[in-house]
Amino acid sequence: MTLSIINLIYLLASVLFILGIKGLTHPRTAVRGNIMSALAMLLAVVVTLFDAQILSFEYILAGIVVGAAIGVLLAVRIEMTAMPQLVAVFNGLGGGASVLVAGAALVQATGAGASPSLQMSIATALSGIIGGVTFWGSLVAFSKLQRLMLENACSFPGQRVVNVLLLATAIGLGAVVAVSPENHMAYWAMVGAASILGVLLTVAIGGADMPVVIALLNSYSGLAASATGFVLQNNMLIISGSLVGASGIILTKIMCKAMNRSLANVLFGGALGPVEQQGETQDDIYAGNVKATSGDEIAMILDSAQRVAIVPGYGMAVAQAQHAVRDLMNLLEARGTDVEFAIHPVAGRMPGHMNVLLAEAEVPYDKLREMDAINPEMSQIDVAIVLGANDVVNPLAKTDPASPIAGMPIINVDECRTVVVIKRSLSPGFAKIPNPLFAADNALMYFEDGKKAAQNICEALKEA
Ligand code: NDP
Repeated sequence: MTLSIINLIYLLASVLFILGIKGLTHPRTAVRGNIMSALAMLLAVVVTLFDAQILSFEYILAGIVVGAAIGVLLAVRIEMTAMPQLVAVFNGLGGGASVLVAGAALVQATGAGASPSLQMSIATALSGIIGGVTFWGSLVAFSKLQRLMLENACSFPGQRVVNVLLLATAIGLGAVVAVSPENHMAYWAMVGAASILGVLLTVAIGGADMPVVIALLNSYSGLAASATGFVLQNNMLIISGSLVGASGIILTKIMCKAMNRSLANVLFGGALGPVEQQGETQDDIYAGNVKATSGDEIAMILDSAQRVAIVPGYGMAVAQAQHAVRDLMNLLEARGTDVEFAIHPVAGRMPGHMNVLLAEAEVPYDKLREMDAINPEMSQIDVAIVLGANDVVNPLAKTDPASPIAGMPIINVDECRTVVVIKRSLSPGFAKIPNPLFAADNALMYFEDGKKAAQNICEALKEA
């Protein structure tokens, strides 16, 4: 296949990638967008295999078989609630692949006394640095989300200085790689410094800032791939890597806005030292103030409600309660009650987590109201049903500047006439802090699994 035909098909694949990403911006077109992007990837892989530089297909075929088997196994066996961890691993593997491919290309290019161009050496150094940070940063993000390590920010005094020194070391070694690419040790030492930086940057982030980090690592994986595209002189990799890099940065910006944080604050705030937990303890807040309720009582309250807002959170994903919640919505609407879903941008464990689950249950898209749209109307809502959400409705974000979620906008359910919180216990959410909402005068707690609770309320409503 000639170079011009390969590039023409790469161009077609790039257009399909762009149309695919556009399709993903709306639930109605998301499936089509996914198919387009998958087709683009298939085209890109097949055409690359026709590249004249490939001398033997044996290892490639073995890689495809092993990779596909692992991929299928993961896709089939992974729990929906573990999707964010899986995405973190995918980001990391992208970064790791960039490190290895760029390193192999460097070894190949410097073989037999040849010297690669300056452009290729600089791109190799960038691949190694960004890929190293991405791989190890993503592994830490995975471990935090999988609860293999402490989810909160862990840092030590002077961590910022160490980070700056590591970055300077990686860049310095990168410069050595650029000017003397035959120095392979410099490349691997540079990857080592970048890897430690990736670990330190990510362990220092916790609380409610993880969504931003995941989006940022996603962007890094794209940038690393794009740099590797320059190393391999592969236009497809340059374009697709740039698309991932750019869309990841846009997502990071959206997440920062949702958390009311600047990127610098997320990246470097945690490295200032452990946050002193101040304020009241869980016992101070809850003692004697928590009112438990039942499905029957909630049905009675809902019976007279005109307007209901359901606020889903991570617990809805754990309970897989989306279908039961949809049934509750249908039942209430059939009785003349207006039902909406109030969606916080970081509810759950990945961007768009709640939207995906509710779309799966075929909740009409116009029923989903974004936080900024519904918050001004909260005082007009009769009953807010908080289902498995905690941090995203925690008023401490507004009142306690020392809280790990300080400054994060929340869904103001505390302004509704009555708030029903469905969760199994008084355990904290991702940020590991108590929630004064549970002890508020207008709040009732229904201690039950999310799915079971929604089903119980439906039953009680039918009997009422
Ligand atoms: P939280 O993690 O704050 O709270 C979830 C609550 O769900 C828990 O308190 C838990 O209480 C309850 N729960 C768990 N299982 C069930 C079940 N089976 N039935 C009913 N309830 C259940 O979730 P939120 O969605 O409110 O907040 C998301 C948090 O995650 C934020 O801090 C956000 O920053 C963070 N995060 C978000 C990411 C994103 O991209 N969206 C990525 C990474 C982190 P109990 O155990 O008592 O049932």
